[in-house]
Amino acid sequence: MDNPVPARLRVAPSPTGDPHVGTAYMALFNKAYARATGGQFILRIEDTDRARYVADSERQITESLSWLGLGPDEGPGVGGDFGPYRQSERLDTYRPFVDQLLAAGHAYWCWCSPERLREMRAAQEAAKVPTTGYDRLCLGKTREERAALPGFSETPVVRMLVPDDVELEFDDVIRGRIATPRPDDQVILKADGFPTYHLAVVVDDHLMGITHVVRGEEWISSTPKHILLYKWLGLPIPAFAHMPLLRNPDKSKISKRKNPAARLLWFREQGYLPEALRNFLQLMGYPAGDNEGICTFEEFWADFDWAKIATVGPVFDVKKLDWLNGHYIRGLSDDELAARIAEHLEYTGQPEVDAAILRRAVPIIKERLVTLDEAAGKIGFLLLPAAELPIDPEARAALSPDAPQVLRAAGDALEALPEWTSQGIHEALQAALVAGMGLKPKFAFAPVRVAITGQRVSPPLFESMEILGRAESLLRLRNLV
Ligand code: GLU
Repeated sequence: MDNPVPARLRVAPSPTGDPHVGTAYMALFNKAYARATGGQFILRIEDTDRARYVADSERQITESLSWLGLGPDEGPGVGGDFGPYRQSERLDTYRPFVDQLLAAGHAYWCWCSPERLREMRAAQEAAKVPTTGYDRLCLGKTREERAALPGFSETPVVRMLVPDDVELEFDDVIRGRIATPRPDDQVILKADGFPTYHLAVVVDDHLMGITHVVRGEEWISSTPKHILLYKWLGLPIPAFAHMPLLRNPDKSKISKRKNPAARLLWFREQGYLPEALRNFLQLMGYPAGDNEGICTFEEFWADFDWAKIATVGPVFDVKKLDWLNGHYIRGLSDDELAARIAEHLEYTGQPEVDAAILRRAVPIIKERLVTLDEAAGKIGFLLLPAAELPIDPEARAALSPDAPQVLRAAGDALEALPEWTSQGIHEALQAALVAGMGLKPKFAFAPVRVAITGQRVSPPLFESMEILGRAESLLRLRNLV
């Protein structure tokens, strides 16, 4: 990009539960463009819906974003010149805008009770009227006039007076010109005195100097209402970009109810690396380019272009994420991987493992590790004393009748081994069992593997024995006999 204008972008999640993966997806693209233009990326907490507010949610949002390397330049806890960054701390900000709209006749009080609105909707549906929506019973009435009619509520709301000639098309940075259905007379101030999302989003995006509103496509139909508010309030209109919704492999919308991967925290719990998830999200609706799509965040934003985004819902394929995670795991040094595994065990509340054994086990599990969470299972046999090692009954049942002899011969050969190295172990067993007893390698090593690891399939056997040490290995061979 040549001399771009520094852009200000934001992600504006509502703290209504544990964060959705879509929040990270939006944060990623917002932050990418902020970086590409040398601008700022802001986190704003949209907590005006008190009925759906969940106390711990904001902390989870902040932690997950910073875990992904997608922390904001401004936001709650970070600060900035445009705070506060929580809408509940900005309540005094919104009221003058509501008053301005009321005074200009662009908005009106509505005293209809929730029951009346429910009945109205039911009647409209029964009559199959072409355009449903608020019937404007309160429009033009004083409180006294309205109070004389049924379905009156003491605590009014304020609604937008959407004009007949409301502009229903707008230019989207990603999608070009789009048309939307006609909006209803949207509530902008609720009975509890809190603004609704629609008013707060416009006021805050303006006051925070947001130049590009980048959000999910579910907000397309709300955009004409927001544009009306900008115009009525005499505010400059930002650019809008509506990102595609992430889809399940069956093309349905990703929801926390149906897909565990819709929960952002799930990825960390499963032991995905933040760099792998970030890279994976970069590929959602965005071309992979060279190197099978593997690229750093810096490479991604340096070359960022809205025009490259495909609006057909990107399919969220966890297999691709597994592959990326393996790739990033193998890119870590052994020390770093051991540290990440230890951190993961702590994060998920699993028992701590002996740091020295973990560090020595890393090279033998690294090659085939898909997630950090698998590590504990793969090296569990290294951590238990021989007496507590569980032997998989199927693995035991599959052994041939001469297994005890094989195990004894293996023990004898290893007892005399001058140096306890994986190569020495391999050679000694090869000589004693394959050459000495005339067994096929498969039959020779199977009982040894079951004795040492308790399983038929395990990390590399001779390396595992080297880590366990001679005494422990011999004990295990004897135990299975
Ligand atoms: N609070 C809205 C949400 O949770 C933000 C939508 C927007 O970015 O304008 O999705």
